[in-house]
Amino acid sequence: MTKTRVPAIEGWFTDDEQHPALLGTRCTACGSYFFPRETYFCKNPDCLGREFDEVELSRTGTVWSFTNNCFEPPPPYMSPDPFVPYTIAAVTLATEQMVVLGQVVPGVELADLHAGMEVELVLDTLYEDDDHEYLVWKWQPITNAGEAV
Ligand SMILES: [Zn+2]
Repeated sequence: MTKTRVPAIEGWFTDDEQHPALLGTRCTACGSYFFPRETYFCKNPDCLGREFDEVELSRTGTVWSFTNNCFEPPPPYMSPDPFVPYTIAAVTLATEQMVVLGQVVPGVELADLHAGMEVELVLDTLYEDDDHEYLVWKWQPITNAGEAV
């Protein structure tokens, strides 16, 4: 039986599995981007903005920092049971220059990552039950053809 693939959390990313994008908001007054979305008031201390446009954020970015997570994270992350340690990266988005945390796709170890490495957003299974695979965004290194990885 094929399991239905559904977002683990609603409204945080598009469901285009070929070209997924995180969904954030942008202050109409100062242009600041927010992810997770900000909808009440702008967090820019110099801005009184209270209106926001929903925007699709850059699908690519560069690794700013990374670590591995050996502890079960807090919500909204759900974890497979039993918990499996994974690699997590803080990625600076290409256009917005904001940092977004995410898991790195399975199979990529700490030694495979370096600061400044280009990554792209993919959707991958976070956990599953009998009927569904629950998807979340993960960072996947971009490997240029011919370049040693
Ligand atoms: Zn603002």
